[in-house]
Amino acid sequence: MSRVLVIGCGGVANVAIRKCCMLPEVFTELCIASRTKSKCDALAAELKDKTTTKITTAQVNADSVEELCALIRSYKPDLVMNIALPYQDLTIMEACLQCKVNYMDTANYEPEDTDDPEWRKIYEKRCKEQGFSAYFDYSWQWAYRKRFEEAGLTALLGCGFDPGVTQAYCAYAKKHEFDEIDTIDILDCNGGDHGYAFATNFNPEVNLREVSAPGSYWENGHWVEIPAMSIKREYNFDQVGDKDMYLLHHEEIESLAQNIPEVKRIRFFMTFGQSYLTHMKCLENVGMLSTTPINFEGHEIVPIKFLKALLPDPASLGPRTHGKTNIGCIFTGRKDGKEKTYYIYNVCDHQECYKEVASQAISYTTGVPAMCGALMMLTGKWTTPGVHTVEEFDPDPFLAALDKYGLPKSESHDPALVP
Ligand code: NDP
Repeated sequence: MSRVLVIGCGGVANVAIRKCCMLPEVFTELCIASRTKSKCDALAAELKDKTTTKITTAQVNADSVEELCALIRSYKPDLVMNIALPYQDLTIMEACLQCKVNYMDTANYEPEDTDDPEWRKIYEKRCKEQGFSAYFDYSWQWAYRKRFEEAGLTALLGCGFDPGVTQAYCAYAKKHEFDEIDTIDILDCNGGDHGYAFATNFNPEVNLREVSAPGSYWENGHWVEIPAMSIKREYNFDQVGDKDMYLLHHEEIESLAQNIPEVKRIRFFMTFGQSYLTHMKCLENVGMLSTTPINFEGHEIVPIKFLKALLPDPASLGPRTHGKTNIGCIFTGRKDGKEKTYYIYNVCDHQECYKEVASQAISYTTGVPAMCGALMMLTGKWTTPGVHTVEEFDPDPFLAALDKYGLPKSESHDPALVP
């Protein structure tokens, strides 16, 4: 029995909410609140006859701590699921602290305005000290650790697939397969085809910022940064086939390096087709990925926001996307004094997802772990006070929930390694 407030009603939230409503014995009451209330109302109307979860909706500007607090105080949830954008992480965490309620999200904080001089000063210091230049990092949210701990509240960060399930895979490997892990390669393959020349599978602004940034990996206790897309490998993915993949910076590397300190190298690879890369480079070269506002015929326009308006809505890709995703982690290390390798991954079919929850697999592979993370928190399995990433909790009940609710794991003890 619980009351949950979901903030955001985009592609990922749609899946998470539909999955929550399949477990009405846990998710007894749900409030869907977002900037555009009509989207929340439409989803609530669609689910009304399909679930016994009692659904209400609300309008909220999640950039305002005051508005969030007013909503939280009136709804009195047990948990706030932040499935809006990374830009809102800090305001929602702040509101949760002020109203004494548990918090979770699916992506770590980054600012909407990367030209903000206050933020830039701290960012530039971090780039120098840490050695990676991505706009997002955990420091902003880790700064809330003491306050959440002292309030006896839990904040679960990044509970999607990657970040999220990938860290649970690491915790599982550490618990069951290895005494010591030497290397982790996280491989994110989307073998889906939506038939458009160019579209992104989740929020275009967040997605394009991520993939156009320099890549980096963790090696021997420090970051190594490389130009964007400059390390390419080919891999033969189970049920998908051969794909080109590129080394990216990714947020879970940062927390894994701290929580599995013996690991010598952690890398993250994502697959991209040539058409996607050519479009992205061209858009970047002409300035369309910029977040700096420009004046156009008397109107202020942020180029990447304008681009977002032109691109297909990721939520609309569901019916036309065919193929599978394959996301997982390859480990090397030792167990009982013997060298070993291990690969744990999930394969997810875009059309199967669409049949079940009217969404493509990228939103599905993020929304299902978000629901399962909430389930862990609400059923008392993941409740350590403080601010935590997924690998800090027991992976077993979480992976069992993923097996049951749509993202079963596959394993190999003899995987091909990535050179
Ligand atoms: P969408 O853009 O589809 O949805 C975002 C939602 O947040 C929209 O409903 C939007 O409202 C709402 N929103 C945005 N700003 C505000 C605001 N100020 N106040 C209230 N509501 C707001 O994004 P996705 O569903 O694709 O992604 C959701 C999250 O999941 C993102 O943080 C993304 O980074 C993360 N993600 C994580 C992954 C993982 O594996 N960990 C993978 C993919 C995504 P409106 O409808 O008005 O625009």
